[in-house]
Amino acid sequence: MEEMQLNVRRRRRRRRKRTSRWAQILVLIAIVSAIGVVCWGLSSRQDHTVVVELLGDKTITLEYGQTFQDPGARATALLRDGEEPLELEVEAEGTVDVHRLGRYTIVYTAEYEGRKGSVSRTVEVVDTTPPVIELKNDPDIYTLPGQPYQEEGFTAYDQCDGDLTDRVERQELDGVVTYTVTDSSGNRAQVERAIEYKDPRPPVLTLLGEEKIQITEGAGWSDPGCTAMDNVDGDLTAKIQVQGSVNAYKSGTYVLTYQVTDSYGNTAQVQRTVVVEPLELPDPVEPEGKVIYLTFDDGPREHTEKLLQILDKYQAKATFFVVNNEKYIHLLDDIVQAGHSVGIHSVTHQYSQIYASDEAFFEDLYAMQQIIYEQTGVKTWLMRFPGGSSNRVSMKYNQGIMSRLVKSVQLKGFRYFDWNVDSGDGGGGNISSDEFFNNVIQGIQKKKYPVVLMHDIWANSVDTVERILQWGVANGYTFQALDENSPPCHHNTIAN
Ligand SMILES: [Zn+2]
Repeated sequence: MEEMQLNVRRRRRRRRKRTSRWAQILVLIAIVSAIGVVCWGLSSRQDHTVVVELLGDKTITLEYGQTFQDPGARATALLRDGEEPLELEVEAEGTVDVHRLGRYTIVYTAEYEGRKGSVSRTVEVVDTTPPVIELKNDPDIYTLPGQPYQEEGFTAYDQCDGDLTDRVERQELDGVVTYTVTDSSGNRAQVERAIEYKDPRPPVLTLLGEEKIQITEGAGWSDPGCTAMDNVDGDLTAKIQVQGSVNAYKSGTYVLTYQVTDSYGNTAQVQRTVVVEPLELPDPVEPEGKVIYLTFDDGPREHTEKLLQILDKYQAKATFFVVNNEKYIHLLDDIVQAGHSVGIHSVTHQYSQIYASDEAFFEDLYAMQQIIYEQTGVKTWLMRFPGGSSNRVSMKYNQGIMSRLVKSVQLKGFRYFDWNVDSGDGGGGNISSDEFFNNVIQGIQKKKYPVVLMHDIWANSVDTVERILQWGVANGYTFQALDENSPPCHHNTIAN
């Protein structure tokens, strides 16, 4: 600008040398002033800019439904150097719908003196929130162990998609139900429900056989038992506990209680009544007059024939409880032919064998009955227990067997006889004739129906019998054989 002014002056000096110096100065001032005005005018119109700056981030990510608060923008007009920038008003254009996923643009604009400035911002509305699954609980619904879960209900709601209940997938595994649902933005929700198993049902006990069972003393008792089925545990029969017991050899009423508990603590109980009726036998026939029942055990043997002759001489009848002495077994027929009674004692007389069990005893008993039958044609039901019904030796082999046998033999039709007069010849026959005689005579006088224990296996015993017969006849007795209707002679059986 200064250069331009100098050039003009020089040219004028050359062209107009006569112009007055003052005039020249005035014109010069006027020109310089005019140029200055023009230059200022030009520069004041073109030398500003409008700047728009974002407040906040260029891109804002917004969760669906979240309120959008526009941080806005700031605009300034920058004037010539040295002047304060001018704050401008900003206009924002564009909308953001927070309930619609998408990308929105907001443009911020400002204007000053014909100049504009703008800046834009991107707002992205996204959905990163998974749906919410809610499980319902119904206290009335329970799941039996081992059974499929009965759904109590559930809902699934997504802030963006709304109700997604229909799209929930269920999976049941190892007592856990897993519910899964995915919204349209791919957000997955999963919740689990631990199934509460409950079993309020007790097992079902079913009696086998009747609820009330009646048996007769001696018939034996075998519990038909009970079965137990449980809705969860299945067959619990093996776990049934029985309270109470039945003594089938003693009349009375017995109650058995069967009880079982399932694995969830439910207990079931059922009862059975067993009535053991007393054994009813026909009334015995009372003999007339004074009677002596002589009985001889453990024969026949070598002295039996002699004994038969002695008895015959006095027309005395006796009873022989016999064993299987094969050498002399043919004498059984002679005994029967002579009008005596034959009763069963034992095949072997081995305590350890015959008292080993009830079955072993009866096996021996029936075998001897059969031998007698084969020898005599008589099926006898008379019997005497080896050792008598009060023996203690059987305890060694089978506890309580005698108290059972005394009932069961009678129920099966046998009539057993013990003795109430002991001759004392049981201990190996080491007894004097006088002692033997006195034992018998004194014993007889104390009993209404004396049943005398003797053994025809000892010579001494057989020889002394004649004295007894003589004494009996002299004292008005008759000697009779036992039969099934004779008055019973039973020891007190040891309840062993
Ligand atoms: Zn004997």
